[in-house]
Amino acid sequence: MTSVDELFAIEGLLAGEELDVRATARAFADRELRPHIAEWYDAGTLPVREVAREFGSLGLLGMHLDGYGCAGTSATAYGLACHEIEAVDSGLRSLMSVQGSLAMHAIHAYGSDEQKQQWLRGMAAGELIGCFGLTEPDFGSNPGGMRTRARRDGKDWILDGTKMWITNGTVADVAVVWARTDDGGRGFLVPAGTPGLEARVMRRKLSLRASVTAELSFDGVRLPAEALLPGARGLRAPLGCLGEARFGIVFGSMGAARTCLETAIEYAKARVVFDKPIAGYQLTQAKIADGAVEYGKGMLLALHLGRLKDSGQITPEQVSAGKLNNTREALAIARECRTILGANGITLEYPVMRHAANLETVITYEGTSEVHQLVLGQALTGENAFR
Ligand code: FAD
Repeated sequence: MTSVDELFAIEGLLAGEELDVRATARAFADRELRPHIAEWYDAGTLPVREVAREFGSLGLLGMHLDGYGCAGTSATAYGLACHEIEAVDSGLRSLMSVQGSLAMHAIHAYGSDEQKQQWLRGMAAGELIGCFGLTEPDFGSNPGGMRTRARRDGKDWILDGTKMWITNGTVADVAVVWARTDDGGRGFLVPAGTPGLEARVMRRKLSLRASVTAELSFDGVRLPAEALLPGARGLRAPLGCLGEARFGIVFGSMGAARTCLETAIEYAKARVVFDKPIAGYQLTQAKIADGAVEYGKGMLLALHLGRLKDSGQITPEQVSAGKLNNTREALAIARECRTILGANGITLEYPVMRHAANLETVITYEGTSEVHQLVLGQALTGENAFR
């Protein structure tokens, strides 16, 4: 029998470091993450520090950044690692994305030498945790409307406002916070424990339960001049970080889809209904075949974008197309696979419904599907339909 990867000869498109990273991440995920994930998901939490240290020891955090203890791999290798980790759970890949692509990338791309020296090595090792605060209660798709404000007081800055839906917000050692300023918008590094900063866990999530999500409030938080990210001006800076994380999601979401397909195929072969395994019924095969075709197309798109990124040619619109397609198709695959598992499909005994629930977050964060449609619509028509 052919696996979903073999159907599209995916392995033949990978080389050297890419195959090594994929194999290492897959073995680690099977050994250390998969046995625990249902329990973490059920409990609605994640041992962030332990998992981050394990990610760090494998070089998965900020892995395609250079220097400061980062692994310096290709972007494609990073994508393949996201694929393997999200094949276990989107919450685990979110930890990788937020730490590496959002918080570390912000410091790496826009930080001073001192800031890089202070934070990046510990973050790459998973000893220090970062979070990324852009979204606010009233501003998600439109971060340009943000109300969080930073004003000067002598050489210091005073930060006021609220950020919501911040992954790892309560466990982070440092928050990368984006705020409105007199000269537009700037980014700040706010260490945990700074007076006036409060972090509260957001509970009762039905998606991405194996991930810590928080609300951060800043009440007259006084920051020294050195807290400012000197290279970040306006919205281009946080949007640049989001582009990095979205790239990982293009690969990662297909990891979730792969697990759903593999689980559904195994289940269909074993489950006998009307005296025959359901794998032998045409309707079941149609679901599996259609899902595998979308998976293969998604992987080919991801690898194509990986090659474009590694050659320095990728555009934000191309990343939007990948994020839109692969998250949308992964969710459709997860839902269809869930039907193959019947009643068993709604439990945590199988990973499929957990992935389907997670993917509701994945189509929402890092730009909703609608926002990516608008990005592509604008690129293709020249008309701005955002407002
Ligand atoms: P809204 O912006 O209110 O959108 C609601 C709906 O309106 C959506 O369907 C949207 O597509 C649609 N819509 C919006 N504008 C338009 C338009 N012009 N035309 C048509 N439709 C439109 N944020 C962070 O900063 N850091 C994090 O670490 C982080 N982690 C997250 C973790 C989780 C589990 C979740 C769920 C979210 C996280 N987010 C984070 C926030 C996430 O990025 C936002 O939820 C997302 O940007 C959407 O914003 P919103 O929820 O305010 O939706």
